[in-house]
Amino acid sequence: MRLADRMSRLGTETAFDCLCRAKALECKMDVVHLEIGEPDFDTPKHIREAAKAAIDAGYTHYGPSAGLMEVREAIADYAGRLRGVRFTPEQVVITPGGKPVMSFAIMALVEPGDEVIYPNPGFPIYESMINYMGGNAVPIRLHEESGFRLDAGELAALVNPRTKMIIINSPQNPTGGVLTKEDLALIKDTALKHNVWVLADEIYAEVLYDGKFESISQFPELDQRLIILDGFSKTFAMTGWRLGYGIMPPKMAELLARLQTNTNSCTATFTQRAALAALSGPRDEVNAMLAEFKKRRDFIVAGLNKLPGFRCASPRGAFYAFPNVEGTGIDCDVLAHRLLEEKGVACLAGTCFGKYGDGFLRFSYANSIENIGKALGKIEELLKTL
Ligand code: PLP
Repeated sequence: MRLADRMSRLGTETAFDCLCRAKALECKMDVVHLEIGEPDFDTPKHIREAAKAAIDAGYTHYGPSAGLMEVREAIADYAGRLRGVRFTPEQVVITPGGKPVMSFAIMALVEPGDEVIYPNPGFPIYESMINYMGGNAVPIRLHEESGFRLDAGELAALVNPRTKMIIINSPQNPTGGVLTKEDLALIKDTALKHNVWVLADEIYAEVLYDGKFESISQFPELDQRLIILDGFSKTFAMTGWRLGYGIMPPKMAELLARLQTNTNSCTATFTQRAALAALSGPRDEVNAMLAEFKKRRDFIVAGLNKLPGFRCASPRGAFYAFPNVEGTGIDCDVLAHRLLEEKGVACLAGTCFGKYGDGFLRFSYANSIENIGKALGKIEELLKTL
């Protein structure tokens, strides 16, 4: 096929492969889906209604690449209030999901040979896109002992003159780890000292179980080197809508908008109008969803900790449990595979999130307590046969 060399460096997100396999198995057996990271709740009604009204009102055409100005304004206001800072609409670029912010930021900044430090275990697309652009992906290990927070001392040791960017993610996928204000201050100091960009993936900012969300954007010194990734997928149960945004210096926003002009032109305009309803509408459905996630977290963590060979820290945010399964004596890839094929429990091996995920499994608890209970029973059954 004579593909471009860079295609050999492009990774993937195995959650989607696992979902396909799990769906295919459904004709043979019952499958409990704990693999994919999406809320199992419907998008709140007022948001759906707003999208329908927007279609009828003619929001079916191309829009500006950076997004509709009234929506950029609403996002700047909402995202600023959430973080206790002030953003301007010129800093906001609206994208089809949060993911493009990741790809565009890396495309805009990373040249062959540049180093990018990224959390490992972590969202697999960071490593994939860094490699694709010819950068050197430098993992920073997240340790179970410290609640999977990134160790600022280790970070400082990894940064060198070739480092172009540091990626952070809090609350974190797959571990549920959350960075403290002190962690963020140290990361900010390192970035400033070495003139490095920070990409802060804050897509789970509002899926936080205790305490207040801390964003690295609270340190204004970093303003000129910070790109925040956020979106509607998780908080508003809108994964399939493809609606996210980045917040960054206005000059960088112009460049990301230009990348958008070159790739997907713009984000669908009726979904953007629905975003206005999400940002300003009632919070009861979102709050109910978050309360339910918390119940499920407590349920799944307690259940996993009862299984022989499993040890699971309680995630502080996002909706994933990430137990250490080394005590079972079974390789985590084999265990994930057998759980799916023999017991119909779809989950992911920690290695789907990088080499330091070895020895762990990831369970998304975006599923009912009843189904989680069923899955726990089936895992126990499999463990008994080993
Ligand atoms: N960042 C992290 C850490 C995620 O877990 C995800 C989705 O799972 C994304 C970004 C992408 O979100 P979106 O579906 O809005 O593109």
